[in-house]
Amino acid sequence: MSDCVFCKILAREIPSTTVFENGAVAAFLDVNPMEKGHVLVVPKRHWPTLADVPAGAAEREVRDALADAVRLLAKAALRAGWAGANVLQCNGEAAGQTVGHLHFHVIPRPAGGAVPPAFESGAARYADDAERAAVAEKLRAAVAAVLAEEAAAAAR
Ligand code: 5GP
Ligand code: ZN
Repeated sequence: MSDCVFCKILAREIPSTTVFENGAVAAFLDVNPMEKGHVLVVPKRHWPTLADVPAGAAEREVRDALADAVRLLAKAALRAGWAGANVLQCNGEAAGQTVGHLHFHVIPRPAGGAVPPAFESGAARYADDAERAAVAEKLRAAVAAVLAEEAAAAAR
């Protein structure tokens, strides 16, 4: 994608500080880090969000490489001496996505650091048990629908 900042970074048209790269993914430092060591793990294919990643067998290697790179960078942050690490991934403007090329944030955390407000535990509350059950059921139904859709596509 010619107007995508991450595609430009991957094409080395914009400089970045790469910390890991293979044929399918790259990981580079975020230009505006939430913590020192904040890394973005990015597939080399231009997919805007997780919903755009094909579920088929053809892209399995890329999906595996992406998940493995996230695992690797989180493990590396701990190995490098940080006390913890967050993995954050935003889909759509409503979720805070500002760059329309799929990416995972791996954010190393020092011991005793502040928890970011957006991660505040208890920031949302269910009105009652019925609402909690209804939300869980809605998610279960959506999981079943996606699995059925993907199974049907794989059978075609
Ligand atoms: P999002 O909010 O879309 O999940 O995160 C996008 C991230 O990309 C932000 O944390 C932002 O700082 C980072 N970013 C935006 N432009 C650039 C850039 O040109 N280079 C690097 N290294 N990071 C960028
Ligand atoms: Zn892109």
